[in-house]
Amino acid sequence: PHVSAVVERLCATVPDYPEPGIVFKDLTPVFADGPALKLVVDSIVAKFAGKFDAVAGVEARGFLLAAAAAYATGTGVITIRKAGKLPRDVYAESYALEYGEATLELHQEDVPAGTRVLILDDVLATGGTLGAAATLLERTGAVVAGIGVVLEIDALPGRENLPGREIVSLLHV
Ligand code: IMP
Repeated sequence: PHVSAVVERLCATVPDYPEPGIVFKDLTPVFADGPALKLVVDSIVAKFAGKFDAVAGVEARGFLLAAAAAYATGTGVITIRKAGKLPRDVYAESYALEYGEATLELHQEDVPAGTRVLILDDVLATGGTLGAAATLLERTGAVVAGIGVVLEIDALPGRENLPGREIVSLLHV
């Protein structure tokens, strides 16, 4: 089966979560299904074959994809975390959420300069999260090889907010 059909079948849609009016796409059933998880990770990795030296995941669901993709390709994992979780010197980037603001952080010394990094997360919505992740990696001297997500919400301007980035989405909704 095609990966988009598998994701579409397993993805749960939750109206009015976490706020009234928001339709939340829940991919935990995709992660819980062994063949689906493997297909999703292999499909994203295949699109960037030979183009990355490490995989960055955005806390928390991005970690699941990044660890699997890194293990599958013999590369390392870089953790981009919510504010206050990393113990050594960090770079921080704040960005707007649909409601309010959030901050992501990355250790200043985790990524050797010039490392080509593939960034993974579960969902691309407004692009704020992945934009902040890409900026953090570039501040450390890394090169953003691309962005991979399982699902992209086409009604939101995620791609427009990530100009010049190579983005792979397995399912558009
Ligand atoms: P953005 O910054 O608006 O693109 O939102 C993307 C971030 O919020 C990602 O880290 C997602 O995990 C999370 N997110 C936003 N909308 C959804 C959704 O419908 N389902 C699951 N996660 C979402």
